[in-house]
Amino acid sequence: MVEPLHIGVLALQGAFREHRIMLEKCGAKVTEIRRLPGGSPWGGLEMFDGIVLPGGESTTMGRLLVDEGLLEPLRTCGQAGMPVYGSCAGLILLCREVEGPDGALIEQPRLGLLDARVRRNAFGRQADSFETRLDVKGVACDMEAVFIRAPVIVSCGPSVEVLCRVEGPLGPSPVAVRQGRVFATSFHPELTADSRFHAWFLNICLAWRSAGGFPS
Ligand code: GLN
Repeated sequence: MVEPLHIGVLALQGAFREHRIMLEKCGAKVTEIRRLPGGSPWGGLEMFDGIVLPGGESTTMGRLLVDEGLLEPLRTCGQAGMPVYGSCAGLILLCREVEGPDGALIEQPRLGLLDARVRRNAFGRQADSFETRLDVKGVACDMEAVFIRAPVIVSCGPSVEVLCRVEGPLGPSPVAVRQGRVFATSFHPELTADSRFHAWFLNICLAWRSAGGFPS
């Protein structure tokens, strides 16, 4: 029997349970990450075939990542090619630059694995939360998408592929992006009944594991 994929879901804060449920529904084994497992030069994170960063509050999560000594090891995993997916606050943690709703740069702890600049709470107060249906290139058509105080990507480098845009206050803005095996969405597929995004991410994780996975 083939070993199920083993996914680490960051569980310091936010909507991690919903990701866990979705990934388990898709057949993966899930471990919630609250501290560094330890026991190897990679901090034990190499046991995972992929990592998920949930939505929540990116400043708090970033601070807790630093406190728990998880920031650097997670960055190393992403740089080594491990598939990483971040939704909403998870997207913010992945970006190289973060700005506030007014466009001014904010210094907050982040992984910086995505060559992109993100604006927090970009949809403003009136549309703090909304739902829509989206086509996400190469992933799924007509996906239910839930936006909660969502960020948008304001600019990104040539290695970042935009998978989907939504009309926002700054015009049509990227809300789903990919850079190699790093993925991010402004919205929350884990809060819907549609598991296609997670199933697609698990396929990327499977391909990575089949190709040898983490360098030993
Ligand atoms: N606005 C939140 C932040 O900036 C993200 C919201 C979310 O994850 N639902 O961290």
